[in-house]
Amino acid sequence: MRIVPFGATREVTGSCHLLVAEGHRVLLDCGMFQGRGEERNHDPFAFDPRQLDAVLLTHAHLDHVGRLPKLFREGYRGPVYATRATLLLTRIVLEDALKVMETPFFGEEDVEEALRHVRLLEYGEWLRLGDLTLTFGQAGHLPGSAFVVAQGEGKTFVYSGDLGNRQKRVLPDPSPPPKAHLVLSEGTYGDRPHRSFPETVEEFLAILETTLDRGGKVFIPSFALERAQEILFVLYENGHRLPKAPIYLDSPMAERVLLLYPSLVRYFSEEVQAYFLQGKNPFRPRGLEVVESVETSKTLLREPGPMVVIAGSGMLTGGRILHHLKHGLSDPKNALVFVGYQPRGGLGAEIIQRPERIRLLGQEVPLRASVHTLGGFSGHAGQDELLDWLMDQPRVLLAHGEEEKLLELGKLLALRGQEVSLATLGVGVEV
Ligand SMILES: [Zn+2]
Repeated sequence: MRIVPFGATREVTGSCHLLVAEGHRVLLDCGMFQGRGEERNHDPFAFDPRQLDAVLLTHAHLDHVGRLPKLFREGYRGPVYATRATLLLTRIVLEDALKVMETPFFGEEDVEEALRHVRLLEYGEWLRLGDLTLTFGQAGHLPGSAFVVAQGEGKTFVYSGDLGNRQKRVLPDPSPPPKAHLVLSEGTYGDRPHRSFPETVEEFLAILETTLDRGGKVFIPSFALERAQEILFVLYENGHRLPKAPIYLDSPMAERVLLLYPSLVRYFSEEVQAYFLQGKNPFRPRGLEVVESVETSKTLLREPGPMVVIAGSGMLTGGRILHHLKHGLSDPKNALVFVGYQPRGGLGAEIIQRPERIRLLGQEVPLRASVHTLGGFSGHAGQDELLDWLMDQPRVLLAHGEEEKLLELGKLLALRGQEVSLATLGVGVEV
């Protein structure tokens, strides 16, 4: 049994790994490269897509599913296995990607072709390809997210996919993996644990209270999938503690996900399921208004606070949030709250440095609003959680993380006597 990484090596995007065992070739994820190096999406695959026997998707994030349509464009016609939640969310994610991609490397017909080939595989069900068997375990990172367990040739192999942040409450905690001969693990936050989640929520509520009390607007740039809905969940549970103000969800993609959520109830934590069982939707807080059209979004720019605005894109690479910030950052009554990762060199990272002025959509804007960063909302396992999850594993191959973070995690694993290496693009490792 052999695993060959073809993406997310010493970086966080482009997850795509080829498992070869018992005469079968199985692709684990087929993600898009994003940000630096994204031109690689246009390169041909380093393997022949027509020679694959199956594809498994761990979750619906673009960096794990974004090259799936390209696989079909290049001739793959076999099955794609995913949970039902992953299938439904992948459709939303791929359709949105088609809309925002500057240089598309697949078309609508490729998305349809890919989705037509999806077969459902739920947690704990076994997929048998001859003597190779595969199953999904709960990864707690997105609704329907999974890690993969493969058994064949007398070996057990585990691929983590992305592991969720166990402190958060919307999704179940990641399940422990079985003891394996090799684990290919993510290490996104391999360098540090997250701040306590209850403290993060308290800090978030304090910012909201102060800002809304003085009639200000709270701008929350957010990923449309998972993070936006989680913020709505926090506002649902704590709305009674906050001054009355409208909450605008100004993201058509986040709205699509919100509409889908009630049909995915069984993929959520028991707490969330309990709300739905009582006939409540905990992702619809008091005061929620969904902004559909660009015109309505524009009228919001001129309206006075107090209000909360949740809009994309989460990393300020585009989207309606930029217009809100261009109009609102010069007002000291307002607040900008980052609840997601801001990459080095990006606009978000620049704003966090608190310059006096910031260039937004071609205009210089004085930065007078308060700026806050809440790392505790991260959707990934922190260092301590990764160490726990990998506790019983003799051999670990690290991917999905910046090199220095993987090295940091690797050092701690090695201190416990575990054999560790960093995944290298195109270099196969024997399980
Ligand atoms: Zn992910």
